Amino acid sequence: MSQPRDSYPQTSQDNYQDSYQGRQHNGHQDAYTPVPRQGPGGSYRDGIQDSIRQEPRLLAAGPDAGWARHLDTFGQWEPQAAGPGLLEVLAESGLTGRGGAAFETWRKATATAGTGRKGLFAARPVVIANGAEGEPLSFKDRTLLAHAPHLVIDGLIALAAALGQTGGRTSSQTSAGGTSMYVYAPAASLPRVKQALGERPGGKKIRVVQAPETFISGESSAVVNMIENGTALPTDQRRRLSESGLNGRPTLVVNVETLAQVALIARYGAQWFRQAGTATDPGTRLVSVSGPAPTRDVVLEVPGGVQLSAVLKEAGMDPGSLSAVLVGGYHGRWVRPADHALTPAGAPGRAVRPGAGVIHALDLQTCGIQATARILNYLAGQSARQCGPCMFGLPAMASVLNRIAGGETNPRLSSELDRLGRLVSGRGACRHPEGTTGMVSSALEVFAADFRAHLSGYCTVPGGVAA
Ligand code: SF4
Repeated sequence: MSQPRDSYPQTSQDNYQDSYQGRQHNGHQDAYTPVPRQGPGGSYRDGIQDSIRQEPRLLAAGPDAGWARHLDTFGQWEPQAAGPGLLEVLAESGLTGRGGAAFETWRKATATAGTGRKGLFAARPVVIANGAEGEPLSFKDRTLLAHAPHLVIDGLIALAAALGQTGGRTSSQTSAGGTSMYVYAPAASLPRVKQALGERPGGKKIRVVQAPETFISGESSAVVNMIENGTALPTDQRRRLSESGLNGRPTLVVNVETLAQVALIARYGAQWFRQAGTATDPGTRLVSVSGPAPTRDVVLEVPGGVQLSAVLKEAGMDPGSLSAVLVGGYHGRWVRPADHALTPAGAPGRAVRPGAGVIHALDLQTCGIQATARILNYLAGQSARQCGPCMFGLPAMASVLNRIAGGETNPRLSSELDRLGRLVSGRGACRHPEGTTGMVSSALEVFAADFRAHLSGYCTVPGGVAA
């Protein structure tokens, strides 16, 4: 399996530079209305999204965009002026989280805005930009932080200001209405984030925390735990972060790409956002695409509802030469390359959820069972060892799958793997067991013929195992 590397898609910002004149907002905190005008990336045609044809929006400022190029590209703007009305604009836009779970962003933000004591002793909220990317096949968030950090920071400040000015809280304590702001990102992204914060007015009010390079370090409660206690492990899911998160304050953890989308929607409006994608999956998303050599790992910005095969072609792959594609990352699903739309909103069987925006293709020469076993071994090792079903169940599953991948012909192994998956799923303090068993269960479906072959003592892939 190839290792991701930092990469950057070509942009055509020159075509769009003329549209980015300075914007103005009406300055009224309770009725925030973005000035509708053309933002970067233009529009995308309706109907079946069978090709990309999406000019960059998030990466429109080009590689390594500093403060000056950011303003040149997107226009002058004061994100701290965004008031509670921003949440209504986000609701109209239909933006969903780009970190994996695809919750509606406005709903998640409203849950945090609506909690805490009101008035003079109102609990000040916390907003955390989550750039942790423990998923080994994901590299789009680090690419975004490297090339468009100011867009992420704009979105963080705008959302913090929107939350800070609700629930009877005043806006006088800081530029974001008293809301505390953090950027949580892996070590490799921190120099760029700190440089960006140093370049802009008020950047020093945002605190930066290093995320460990573990698979579960980006889980929301692990993020809060790390900032509060220095331990990036998930905590009790019955505790709602929106009510009692960091130091007991209402806390919103938001993926960095989601924040960059918030910044664009706040600038250009919900209707502009909806010019790309479909009615049920509006806007664009970044995807980390990797595949067999000589495919180059690449980050693409694609419209909602795009066909998976179109993304693979855009990344330089021939879908006909692939056996399967892992979509959504190690907690995602294996699918066949054809006839799937990439969207969290489509019908099962016709659509596949992008999760954290990971697409990894397998060629016809690679055994899907062995590939899945390698991933399961990794995931079993990433358990935080806090919950029995996860701590013991995932290694047990890995052991069974390794025996199948290695050519053991016991016909009961396949049903044993299925049984263990059902025992483990949904029984941890976080979604790690559930996400892992979902990926394995998709392998049992997609590689069903390969499982039968392995259990009969041969492998359908040249060079695969034989008993
Ligand atoms: S389910 Fe696993 S990864 Fe999640 S908290 Fe429990 S032991 Fe840790």
